[in-house]
Amino acid sequence: MSEWERKAEEFTEKIAREFYLTGSGQKEKLEIEPIYRQYADLFSEENVRERLMHLHDDPPATRYLAGMAASGFVENQVKKLDQDVTNAILAAKVDWDGEEVPFLQVPVLLANEEDWQRRHKLESLSSQVDAELLPRLRERLERVHEIAETLGFEDYVQMYKTLLDVDLDAQAQWLQKFLDETEEEYKRQLFDRLQKAGIPEDEATSADIAFILRAKEFDRYFEKDRMVPALLETLKAAGLSKGEDLPFTLDLEPRPLKSPRAFCSPVKVPEEVYLVIKPHGGRDDWDSFFHEAGHAEHFSHIPKSLPFPVRVLGDSDLIEVYSFHMQYRLLEPSWVRDIVGIRSPDLERYLSLSRFAKLFLLRRYVAKLQYEVSIHRGNVENAGEIYKATLERALHIHIAPERALRDMDDGFYTAMYLRAWLFEAMLREFLRKELGETWWRHPDAGDLLYQWWQRGQTKTLNDLLPEIGHTKLEMEPLIHDVLGLE
Ligand SMILES: [Zn+2]
Repeated sequence: MSEWERKAEEFTEKIAREFYLTGSGQKEKLEIEPIYRQYADLFSEENVRERLMHLHDDPPATRYLAGMAASGFVENQVKKLDQDVTNAILAAKVDWDGEEVPFLQVPVLLANEEDWQRRHKLESLSSQVDAELLPRLRERLERVHEIAETLGFEDYVQMYKTLLDVDLDAQAQWLQKFLDETEEEYKRQLFDRLQKAGIPEDEATSADIAFILRAKEFDRYFEKDRMVPALLETLKAAGLSKGEDLPFTLDLEPRPLKSPRAFCSPVKVPEEVYLVIKPHGGRDDWDSFFHEAGHAEHFSHIPKSLPFPVRVLGDSDLIEVYSFHMQYRLLEPSWVRDIVGIRSPDLERYLSLSRFAKLFLLRRYVAKLQYEVSIHRGNVENAGEIYKATLERALHIHIAPERALRDMDDGFYTAMYLRAWLFEAMLREFLRKELGETWWRHPDAGDLLYQWWQRGQTKTLNDLLPEIGHTKLEMEPLIHDVLGLE
């Protein structure tokens, strides 16, 4: 192992530990700057160029190292701007009902507000905060684009096409078909749900969707105390980790500063992996808990003997397949019936809502990818307009242009999520065909994943396609999944 790799692993562990300690409420403030400073040499221009030069030496490992180096190089140079934006977001307040509400609390209020006119009023107040963040975010984006060119890439899109080994333009174009083929059913369901919720079609916004998807009526099925037992039953059913033998640490400690959202921290892969939760119950809480549990299971089953890049790094499309696979048991009728205990007719209503939630999310991500490709090709000045037009075309609701630059992930994570969604639906279709409707309680389902995890990330998502009977990503399984077709 090279000295660079050894240092890179140390760095990764320290950063992950810092996020774990802060997120789990054991440390008050996130301090990653000192860690970056200590390891500044890792991301020196010389070292990053060196990694990029060896990108194709021994893929995928050398590609993962180059990806880490290049992303670290970018982050290192915009971290001051990032910190400013994060602090501005943390400090921002919105005047609501005679009270100062933290900006970060607004999404929760929106999802729970019953009156659509009040929702829209609150939403426009929060857009004002977004508008104030825009100049700094624009500066950051322009800086990031310059850095990509400094490193010798044609542009930011080209940089990530190379680092991710994905043709981002072709993917964005191809996925238009997903929008086309689900358009009619999406509109039918959207307008039907808006009407039932008493929201005028031509006035609907993202806040109304958040309210519809909040679906309080199902809360009684998703109790907070049932989450962990349901996970244990699920793992046991597929022959994965069972009972007290969990290979990761379940952090259930109720600390006041603990993040309300579940997360997984792979501090040291595979021997020190945390699944951190502060259970509050509800469909959404279960959803993110199962997602993160999928990450924890995966990371804690990778053999310790594998080298750093294929053990710890890896492509995020495949990493997200494992978390989605655990999460989308919440879309499997027999799992929902037997593990959650929802019966007809609530079962059908719950499944229909969950599929609509996923359809909305997917359409949003396809549009986001199309928008991101355009912005990263240099359309920064018109970001707001392009964002609004692209998302409105896909979602048929009003979109606030002020969010354009905040609703964006670095490094085309959007594209990686989409690839993971596509693959995971293909995987579930394969398991259903091979093992039947109740595949999730067949030990072979667990064994297949177990074998994949044992190889670490030496295989990419494309390498695994033949193992589920395909040669390329297909769209039909995902379309069938969100439309509830067999
Ligand atoms: Zn994830």
